[in-house]
Amino acid sequence: MGLVTNSRVKSPWILHFDCGSCNGCDIEILACLTPMYDIERFGMVNMGNPKHADVLVVTGSANRRNARVLKNLYEQMPEPKVVIAIGSCACTGGVFNECPNILGGVDKVIPVDVYIPGCAVKPEAIIDGAVLALGKLAEKKAKAKEGVRA
Ligand code: SF4
Repeated sequence: MGLVTNSRVKSPWILHFDCGSCNGCDIEILACLTPMYDIERFGMVNMGNPKHADVLVVTGSANRRNARVLKNLYEQMPEPKVVIAIGSCACTGGVFNECPNILGGVDKVIPVDVYIPGCAVKPEAIIDGAVLALGKLAEKKAKAKEGVRA
């Protein structure tokens, strides 16, 4: 693994998009940034520019209003990238699933790599899922590098 690739896997930049959650899962994400859970020990940095992000973290269910924004953010992110759906709403639509404007989980709009169910999701589960996502990101980066060599 090259220096740049290794750095991006060891210190991925995160983009968080609230698709329309009740903010319960968003508060748990904030808890992960506190010294108690300290998700930054995995090198993760929360930032706001999709063009520099490696990991897209989504809370809330996809609906007819936010689908276009979600897709747009995803498409702006450079390859390879991973998407984490955090909370039952992001995984399946959750408690909002039967609402007329709800499409369902985030995967109705963009591909999802890691699903973390729960309402609200516990910080420990978010950290487990984030570590899983880092493994998937490393795999994708290694495959992309092989593709360049071939
Ligand atoms: S999964 Fe529960 S806590 Fe999370 S956004 Fe949905 S309703 Fe809120």
